[in-house]
Amino acid sequence: MTVSLQIALQLRSQKQIPRLNLVLVRRFVLAEARVAIDPEMRNTWNASLIIEVMPATEETRARLAEIPNLTVSAGAPLSRYTRFGIGGPADLYAETGDVEAFIAALAAARSSGIPTMVIGGGTNLVVSDGGFRGIVLRYRGNRLLAANGRVIADAGAVFQDLVDFAIERGLQGLETLAGIPGSVGAAVYGNAGAYGHSLSERVVDVRFHDGREIRVFTNEECQFHYRESIFKRHKDWIVFSVELQLEPADAGRLRETAAGILQVRNEKFPVTLKCAGSIFKNLLLEDLPLAVAAEVPASAVREGKVPAAWFLEQVGAKGCRRGDIHVASHHANLIYNAGAGTASDLCALIEDLKARVRTRFGMDLEEEVQYVG
Ligand SMILES: Cc1cc2nc3c(=O)[nH]c(=O)nc-3n(C[C@H](O)[C@H](O)[C@H](O)COP(=O)(O)OP(=O)(O)OC[C@H]3O[C@@H](n4cnc5c(N)ncnc54)[C@H](O)[C@@H]3O)c2cc1C
Repeated sequence: MTVSLQIALQLRSQKQIPRLNLVLVRRFVLAEARVAIDPEMRNTWNASLIIEVMPATEETRARLAEIPNLTVSAGAPLSRYTRFGIGGPADLYAETGDVEAFIAALAAARSSGIPTMVIGGGTNLVVSDGGFRGIVLRYRGNRLLAANGRVIADAGAVFQDLVDFAIERGLQGLETLAGIPGSVGAAVYGNAGAYGHSLSERVVDVRFHDGREIRVFTNEECQFHYRESIFKRHKDWIVFSVELQLEPADAGRLRETAAGILQVRNEKFPVTLKCAGSIFKNLLLEDLPLAVAAEVPASAVREGKVPAAWFLEQVGAKGCRRGDIHVASHHANLIYNAGAGTASDLCALIEDLKARVRTRFGMDLEEEVQYVG
């Protein structure tokens, strides 16, 4: 508000244009203001201008620096924090394992009017080449506690650590989720799952921050569905921990199950592959238009779902590429960065694949990956 007023006053006093409507796009060291003017003026007036303004990022950085236990950096390349290895800088990046510090950082961002975004391990993110204009926050709390068949896991714990923790204590229920990369918090957010099971089957409740206070939602209140939860519809809600109910079982048998799954997964997704797993969600057979469902062979249906890969195969997706971004030749729903890939090529390839499926089947695939920036 201060900034847009300053700009407006400056331009009005110079009598440069008669009618001016300023929409502030950013508030940073060099802020960009987009100027909407009468169409006939557009030829004579450059529609965007760069003006030096109060450095809001610097101010916010200074405020964040005062918060104990919070690590802050400016201009951090998000490619460093994504498994795709793609993404421009975040104006600010802050992380902490301390809930109080995290909430204080959120409050500082809110009072500065700076957008925030929370990330986990970055294994399901497509970050734009321009990065993120705001603060990227990561909660690093990673405690795992077990008692009476229940496990409480902090959102910042590595999801595989939670799986191993349960297996070692002879607790059944997470072993089929072995090998899903990323953090516990994001697994709750996206209701991560594999081999016919989802995390939601085991969730008792979730502790989160809703932008004002810490709350606890029961499983039902989390509104879990296939790769969905209420947290996906409230991007400003931050998951801090989850409580799970598991069953006693033989640890050796659970270890065997997990090891078998890990072996298959590592062949499909080598650990060094720069990717986000499946780009698109699979489709529930019952949700498909009847004409489309009739085309799907029974052999392609698994646990009531048609893999997005089946549709992608029908439109020749395997092996497609754009720049250094490739669709795997062995898996049509797996896109990877061969080294020098960019987000713009990745997004263009995703759009191309969606358009092919739309043209052939008259329906849209929905991304499982989350976009940032
Ligand atoms: C090789 C590979 C295989 C995969 N296989 C599977 C699979 O079998 N099944 C499956 O479900 N997924 C799979 N995925 C996708 C990915 O592992 C999951 O989506 C995972 O849960 C993402 O975790 P993350 O910590 O990396 O989240 P990020 O990618 O960092 O973030 C994902 C989303 O979660 C949100 N988020 C993160 N932390 C929090 C929090 N504390 N509170 C609220 N929101 C938060 C972010 O804002 C973002 O929108 C795979 C990915 C890869 C790379």
